[in-house]
Amino acid sequence: MNSLPPDYHTHTYLCRHAGGIPLDYARAAAERGIPEIACTEHIPFPNDPDPAIRMPHDDFQLYLRLVREAQEAGLCRVLLGIEADYQWDLVPDHIRSIVDMADFDLVLGSIHTGPFWDLRPDHPMATADYIEQINRTYYSRMIELARTGLYDVCAHFDLVKRTGIHAPETLLAEIVPPALDAVAATGMAIEINTSGNNHGAAEAYPSAYILSLMRERDIPITFGSDAHNPDQVGQYFAQAIQLAQEAGYTHRAEFRQRKPVLVSIQ
Ligand SMILES: [Zn+2]
Ligand SMILES: [Zn+2]
Repeated sequence: MNSLPPDYHTHTYLCRHAGGIPLDYARAAAERGIPEIACTEHIPFPNDPDPAIRMPHDDFQLYLRLVREAQEAGLCRVLLGIEADYQWDLVPDHIRSIVDMADFDLVLGSIHTGPFWDLRPDHPMATADYIEQINRTYYSRMIELARTGLYDVCAHFDLVKRTGIHAPETLLAEIVPPALDAVAATGMAIEINTSGNNHGAAEAYPSAYILSLMRERDIPITFGSDAHNPDQVGQYFAQAIQLAQEAGYTHRAEFRQRKPVLVSIQ
């Protein structure tokens, strides 16, 4: 039987839109034969414009304690991570200051902000021109994200398709390779994030097409469920392994104190 890879993208109740504490996620992982998880709570923002969707700054030390408690329980290996938005109007110094506050194993970089977040495919604004514009903006932000050098793993690389608006492959063939080149230049990994199966996107992030472009560039991969509830730990991982193998991947990356090590997928 194939063993399941570590789940490097999980949340907790601290971000106020998820449930459970790190110990609950570690227990769920152990029950499913997942040897390792990373807790990757949403990074606090200074003067948070939307305090309902991220860990508040005041809870950061509590987060560290809860992760330590899960590590000490010994149910599975638990890494200390964080999901740090690339927020272009915030100075990178903010992310650096948080990351410097603890001994992190990995830092996820992600983009959540933009009209793609909730634009439905049947909305009158979802014209071909607007979709092209949204995708161009998103992938140019991804280049900026990579160039900050702040992150170890790029989370949900093509989240721009979240609601089910899939840009034409001719457009992706033009705008995705430069973003992947920027990622490859930093040595960052990209996760296969299975939560897209629960969204309008109806497939993992990134798509099989983008995975094949990643493989051509030798970009390392990790696996992440983006669990917002302990029940979702390792969700769709068998399918994700298959996707990785179909793209030609034989290895995945494991992280220890922000350093990747390649490990066979099987
Ligand atoms: Zn979240
Ligand atoms: Zn995210």
